[in-house]
Amino acid sequence: MGRFPPLLWVLLIALLLLPTAAGRILLDLAGGLLITLFALPVVLGGLGWIGWKVLQSRVRTCEACGLSTMTTDAQCPACGSPLPAKNSGRSTAKAVDDSLPASDVTIDIKAEDVDP
Ligand SMILES: [Zn+2]
Repeated sequence: MGRFPPLLWVLLIALLLLPTAAGRILLDLAGGLLITLFALPVVLGGLGWIGWKVLQSRVRTCEACGLSTMTTDAQCPACGSPLPAKNSGRSTAKAVDDSLPASDVTIDIKAEDVDP
């Protein structure tokens, strides 16, 4: 591995500093590379997160033995006990409190004409 000749460094810097077409191309290339370097982890992270969420929604956990499986069978492949239904809507089901009848928590609004 020989040392990079200083003349080439000077040429490179001159290319970058002088407003020439070649310098423009080099700057554009460097900018594109920088954007790619910064955007790639974000894009990959987003894709990974989406993939993880899809995987999580498909995984079901056996209540008897605790085995996490992606099987579509109704029974646990390890212990044979029935698996719970798809738990994708588990968080939303918990948020809704259905112990009260809907008529008790519904607010009735009446429109009235007000005489001045
Ligand atoms: Zn099981």
